[in-house]
This record gives sequence, structure tokens and C-alpha cells, in this order.
Amino acid sequence: MTTKPAAATARATVYGYPRQGQSRALKKAIEGYWKGRITADALHATAADLRRTNWQQLTDAGINEVPTGDFSYYDHVLDTTVMVGAIPARHREAAEADALDGYFAMARGTQDVAPLEMTKWFDTNYHYLVPELGPDTVFTADSKKQVAELTEALALGLTARPVLVGPLTYLLLAKPAPGVAADFEPLTLLDRLLPVYAEVLADVRAAGAEWVQLDEPALVQDRTPAELTAATRAYHDLGALTDRPKLLIASYFDRLGDALPALAKAPVDGLALDFTDAAAANLDALAAVGGLPGKRLVAGIVNGRNIWINDLAKSLATLGTLLGLADRVDVAASCSLLHVPLDTAAERDIEPQILRWLAFARQKTAEVVTLAKGLAHGTDAITGELAANRADLAARANSPITHDPAVRARAAAVTDTDARRCQPYAERAAAQRAHLGLPLLPTTTIGSFPQTTELRTARADLRAGRIDTAAYEERIKTEIQEVISFQDKAGLDVLVHGEPERNDMVQYFAEQLTGYLATQHGWVQSYGTRYVRPPILAGDISRPEPMTVRWTTYARSLTSKPVKGMLTGPVTMLAWSFVRDDQPLGDTARQVAFALRDEVNDLEAAGTSVIQVDEPALRETLPLRVADRPAYLAWATEAFRLSTSGVRPDTQIHTHMCYAEFGDIVEAIDALDADVISLEAARSHMQVARELAAHGYPREAGPGVYDIHSPRVPSAQEAAELLRAGLKAIPAERLWVNPDCGLKTRGWPETRASLENLVAAARTVREEL
Ligand code: GLN
Ligand code: ZN
Repeated sequence: MTTKPAAATARATVYGYPRQGQSRALKKAIEGYWKGRITADALHATAADLRRTNWQQLTDAGINEVPTGDFSYYDHVLDTTVMVGAIPARHREAAEADALDGYFAMARGTQDVAPLEMTKWFDTNYHYLVPELGPDTVFTADSKKQVAELTEALALGLTARPVLVGPLTYLLLAKPAPGVAADFEPLTLLDRLLPVYAEVLADVRAAGAEWVQLDEPALVQDRTPAELTAATRAYHDLGALTDRPKLLIASYFDRLGDALPALAKAPVDGLALDFTDAAAANLDALAAVGGLPGKRLVAGIVNGRNIWINDLAKSLATLGTLLGLADRVDVAASCSLLHVPLDTAAERDIEPQILRWLAFARQKTAEVVTLAKGLAHGTDAITGELAANRADLAARANSPITHDPAVRARAAAVTDTDARRCQPYAERAAAQRAHLGLPLLPTTTIGSFPQTTELRTARADLRAGRIDTAAYEERIKTEIQEVISFQDKAGLDVLVHGEPERNDMVQYFAEQLTGYLATQHGWVQSYGTRYVRPPILAGDISRPEPMTVRWTTYARSLTSKPVKGMLTGPVTMLAWSFVRDDQPLGDTARQVAFALRDEVNDLEAAGTSVIQVDEPALRETLPLRVADRPAYLAWATEAFRLSTSGVRPDTQIHTHMCYAEFGDIVEAIDALDADVISLEAARSHMQVARELAAHGYPREAGPGVYDIHSPRVPSAQEAAELLRAGLKAIPAERLWVNPDCGLKTRGWPETRASLENLVAAARTVREEL
């Protein structure tokens, strides 16, 4: 079937592009600047070079309109803070002395001033710096960066569209500045902020922008009627400006929901909507409001946050249904390509046939261009691309890698009993008490001990072939000996082996599981100059052999105390990997859960009586819309129980969570049915202990009494104080004593001192019972 030329004007665009360059030149330049190795001018030159290369890549691929202003030295929300002049008082002096150093001070702090807080950008693994606002905040426009980058692109003869974080999203992501009442709502500053946006819009217009993109991903979350009214008013006001470019309001990461009718009616010139599967509801919603007559619709149809090739024929069909719903339909990736690696062509270790299933930023750009061409000129114009795409999709669908009959049979046969411990908690608790013989307020740690330079060097040496496996493993054993001997002497009750063999808590397991792929160059920005290489859940998952048993067993041979086995849970394995898009997430989670279940059972069979399955990411992959949460929590908690329910009643299952507030998932924490949970709690002064208690949480818990995020050593008195606060919520029979999280980023001196203080605190408070 062929379609007629349909939308001769369809253009291809993207909202943003990876910043770092193929060999991470930006990271190197910025870190070089921090260390005083290169000048600011050299850094600026590298950055300008990267922007030019990126625009060139986009243009060569056939992108008609390139984004500008999406580039950043650290974070685009921080750039927005600078753009609206909301620099916190404590950073103002530094920013006035030197804009660049002031910028990095806000991002990273200095000896004397704390940085802005960092948190997750919606449900991605990118972190932004949280704006700090208060009733006294004065906004002033600073369009320098936007104007400069636009001017660079225009000078290259390109059609360019500045991309800005929109005013609603900016305010909705902000928090009250230190010293401001906690119930202060940044959104009340909207009227003060809009004139500043008006000024920036006028400036980029004067610099030659025909269009500007205002990103409003906050509008895909549940919003109150007041927030929606604010959005309507903001875009009414900005739309009414006379001296402005055309306004494109961009949404992504989900459907717009109630915000769609509001934005459709706003006097703006275009709307960008997410049309990937997860946001498919946008299609009906758009039709229901009668489309966008007289407006531009940008269809985000190529998934900008996964790494799989697009189904071009299916996308083209969707795009076809959009024609007629707007004045003009353009094609884009669903969100900034910042969330994917740059180029699959750099991957040499992935089999060529499998590489054809993958699309990173460059490949996604090509898909966007192909779809725009197909939309404009009909399928005849892209027959070659469609045929190749069909073949690649079929190869993936029919590959033995994506269909392992044994894995599928096992998942299909799962019963309710598989995901339930064989005895209820109260009976298990008694059996565990008898079996483990621990004191009241037992002390333990979360798993990792300092990852020293020597350990990292040993790993690099092994990779480079400078040492052999035997030498490397000797090194690991020595480390385990030291970690065990320290804990024994310090008087901890449940020991760990310290995780010295792990480069990363997800990657370590991914490398050992069949069905996972690792990339060589698949770097994605996590925050600032920190980039991660998420592994890829590419096929059906199975565990060819035990992954951790020998290390835990070795550690146990060195002490008479119980040693905790340590695994990463199924939800976290998914959250920090690229996931399959050809089956429901819950199915992938279940496969990973079975592989972990085998490991848990093997640990037990080898004599391990305490096994911890970490789920730090359970909270962070919670869907943006409340309505979508129950389904997620159902499969997520089932996967955890599936991995941990194959053990005897007297084997104690621990879990661990951090990085988040847990108030809204206490029920899910309960549904994990873990015997013990450790949680980050020191900085919130045991808030989570009170939340668990309020819920009537019946099991044991270790709210952290040692904030491991800084080298600061908590005194024994301080830890004891937190412990007493914990005791007010959780009875002594069910309270554990532990740090907030693992110690891998800490040094040995502060680790030793802190843990000794933690043990002393437990002893003091035990005496008071
Ligand atoms: N067991 C892991 C560690 O101690 C847990 C890490 C985490 O929660 N992020 O490092
Ligand atoms: Zn943690």
C-alpha cells in the first residue's frame, strides 16, 4: 500500500541532543577546568566546537530545524535559574565575581557554600539542580546564553529554535529556599516570572528566532485545577505579547491529560506532544478537542528515551491520523535525545545483527528524518528504509535471544505461592531470632565498603590485561579479609563482604546474566560531568551460574558472625538499565526475578542465613500519573517477592532503599514482605520510621543513623540521639542500627570512625532499654 504525498511541509526536528560528544570531550574539558588544567576560554572553545559538531550531525542527517540552548555545562534547569536571575543569595557574590565559577559553585558547592539540591528529572536517570525560591525572589532576565547559542547556529546558516524550560515547569520543580516557610508555593511567583520570560522571548526574537520552544513536561503529571489555571493564564499572557517569536509548547514523558484542552485553546502557535506507546492517550485526546486548527503540531513519535529502533510503518500510520488535526504536522523524537547514548556505530562488541535492533541519538535522528520524509512524500519515498526496518524488526521478534523457551515456560508457570514466603512474618521472625541469636538493636551496614583507588586500579589492570584473573581475585580476597576483620573488631553484629568485586550494583549482575547487553561507549548523562553506561535488557533473562555465592562464602569462612549476602533487586535492575519495549515491563521484571531467586536459593544452600536484596529504585520508577501507580507497584512488589520467597522461614530477607521520601509507598514497602528493611533516614531525623509506624508496619526496620553522603563523622551521641528518635516509632525488638546507604564513595578513615561510633551508640541505647 502506498500513501499519497500528504504533508509537503512536514519537517524533522529534535528537542535536544547529547551534550558530551563522542569521546566525552565536554566531561574532560569541564573537569580539566575545575582542576585548573585548562582556561575558561579553552573550555568555551571546546563547548562551541561540540555544539557545531552536533548541529552539523543533525543537519547532515536531514533535520530541518535544530535546537539551540539545550547545551549545558552542567544542567539546563540550572541554566534557567541563571536566565531568570534566581541565583541564591549565598552564591551571588561568586556569580558576580565570575559567572562561570559562580555557575559551578551553584552546581557543586564550594568549601564554604552548599550547592543547590539535586534531584531526578521526572522519571529519568538525569538529575537537575532544584531552583530555590521564596517570597523575596526577584527575577531578572539574562538571555546571554540563549542569544549566543542561537547566534552561533544562525551564523552557520541553520534554521534554529531556542529551547527553554517553560515557566510552569520551572516553578513546579522549584522548592522553598533555605529559611523560607516549607509551605511556600513557588507557583505564586508566576506573575513575577512571566515578564522575565517576555524579555527573553523578545531578545531571542531580536536575535533572529522565528520559533521558540517552551518545555513543559511538568504538565504531564497530575496537576491541580489551580495549577492548570496558572498554565492557562501563563500561556494566555505570553501568547498575547506582540514582540515574540512563535511559541511551541513542548510536552513529553507522558500524556498531557487535563492540560491538553487548556494548551490547545491557548493563543500559542504550536504544541509538541508525545505519541509513543506510553502516551498513546494523547491521540484520542487531541481528536477530542478538535485538533489544533491553525497551529503547528510536533509529533514526538520516535522514543527519545529507549534505545530500540522505531517501528517506522506503525509510526507512519499514527502520523497519518494526525494529518488534518493541525495546520501542519512535524516529526520529532518524543523528548530530548539527552537520555540516550550518541551513536551505535561506536559499539564494536555487540554483534552486528543485534546492533541493527538498536538506535542511539544519531540513529533516532535518522528515523525522525525518514518519517518526516514519508509523511511529506508518501511511503514510496522511503521504501528502502521501510523494508530494512521491517527486516530488522522481524529479526528481533524471531530471535532466540528474545525468545528463550525455558525462561518463558518458567515465567508462564508462576503461581501465587511462588511469590509468597512459606510462613507468615510473625512465625518467620521467631524462627530467625532463634536461628541468628542477635542482640536487641542489631548493628549492620548496607553492603559496600570504600571502593579504594587500588580496587579500581586492579579492575582497570584486569581489563587491560596487565594482571590476570587469579591476581585480581587475590586482590579482592585481601579486601574482603580487611573488611571482615574490621567489622569483627568494631563489634558489628551482621557483617558484609564489602562488595569490592562490583564495579556497579547493576552492571555487575548484568554482565553475568544471559540476555543483557553491555555497551562500550553508551554513555548517558546522569548529572553534571557524571555519565553512566546503562546495560541493555535485550533478551530473555537467565542466570547461567551463581553470581555472588563464592564471595559471600569466602567472607563467611573468615568469621563466626553471620554474613549478609548482597543482591540487587529486580526493580532496580530494570530502573538502571535500558528496558525492552517488546513486552510489558512486568514480564521483564519477572524474568530477572527468577534469575535472582536462583541466586538467593543458592546463597541459602551454601549456608547464608541473611540475604539482602536492594531496591533503592523502587520509588524512582513510580509512574508520573497517580492512576498508573497501582499497576506498577503490583508487578514491582511481586517481582521482589518472587526473588525472595524461595527460602526457608529462618532465612532472613533484608531489603534496602534510599534516595527518596517513602511516605507514598509505605504500602508497597509492606507488600514486599521483607523481614528487615534499611532506609535512608539520618538527614530527615528518622522521618521514615514515623511513616512506617503510622502505617502500622509490622516488620523490622533500620532507619539510617549515619548520613554517608559526606565525609563527616557522626559522633556516638548523635547516632544515639537518632536511635532514640527511631525507638519512639519502632519498638526495640524490631529496630536495627545501620548507616543510610552503602559506603563505597567514602574513605576508610571516616568509615572506621563512623561505624565505631554507630556500634557505641547501639550499646549505649541498649543499656537504656
Ligand atoms: N548494597 C549497595 C551498597 O551498599 C546498595 C547501594 C544503594 O542503595 N544504592 O552499595
Ligand atoms: Zn542506598
